[in-house]
Amino acid sequence: MQQEPLSLMQFQKKFGTEKACQKHLFRLRWPEGFRCPRCRHAEAYFHRTRHLYICKACGYQASLTAGTVFHKTRTPLHKWFWMIWLMGRQKSGISMLSLQRMLEIKTYKTVWTMGHKIRKAMAERDAGYKLAGLIEMDDTYFGAPKPGKRGRGATGKAKVVVAVETPAEKKKPRFAAMRMVPNVSSAEIKPLVQERLAAEAVIKTDGWQGYSFLDASPSLQHEWLVPGSGKEAPKVLPWVHTLIANIKGNIRGIHHGVSPKHLPRYLGEFCYRFNRRFWEPQMFNRMLHACLNTSSITFLELRQ
Ligand SMILES: [Zn+2]
Repeated sequence: MQQEPLSLMQFQKKFGTEKACQKHLFRLRWPEGFRCPRCRHAEAYFHRTRHLYICKACGYQASLTAGTVFHKTRTPLHKWFWMIWLMGRQKSGISMLSLQRMLEIKTYKTVWTMGHKIRKAMAERDAGYKLAGLIEMDDTYFGAPKPGKRGRGATGKAKVVVAVETPAEKKKPRFAAMRMVPNVSSAEIKPLVQERLAAEAVIKTDGWQGYSFLDASPSLQHEWLVPGSGKEAPKVLPWVHTLIANIKGNIRGIHHGVSPKHLPRYLGEFCYRFNRRFWEPQMFNRMLHACLNTSSITFLELRQ
């Protein structure tokens, strides 16, 4: 296993050509060599102009990039590779505008769409993992509030529930999960708990009624920490508050604000990187793997 992340020079040397990138994708997609998706035959002709692998037994035309984020892309693979590498390397994220300039991608729309495709792959991958043990949980708001109520009743802000797996004895937190919710109510928090938290966990929250359903769970243990206003929450839920401050800083500083429509993908990107921060040397290949195993999304779908 690789111990250090590749340097910029090593990366350019390794993935500087289309051919090198294709070869790498091929190895990730078919680690044991080509396998026909239809008949499992192991031999194929390569159709150079159409970039297709044609099964020698049944004639099936397999594409290296079908069903991946690279499907039908007009951007060269080596630019995709750079982009994935850079998005994985920058702890606080990277702006699409600087990527557009660095990678000489013609339009902002192209780089923006690429960014969201990569984020979607990261978010989907991350959603498959569960937090366990001791978990801090709280909710927060992104974006400018509309005039009116403040705090949990506020309208016009994106509401996000955040869970962080925290080891005892003040060690660093391990994993995090975030989800945008229409309301910070039991009905909306419950799916996050069911899908992203292990069946047996100890969950610390403040005194908000939206978390009361946790008390009824036979396997979960719920610790109410601050009854009432929640002003003491940063002290008793330190990690969840640190993470919230970090992602808000990233979104403000790097992405200059994000609309609620796209926020879930930014949350996914943030958590993906955070959850794998101790495996930095493997980050690029893991991200590529995620990009190969996700359904693609079109610009039009992103805009809806
Ligand atoms: Zn075949």
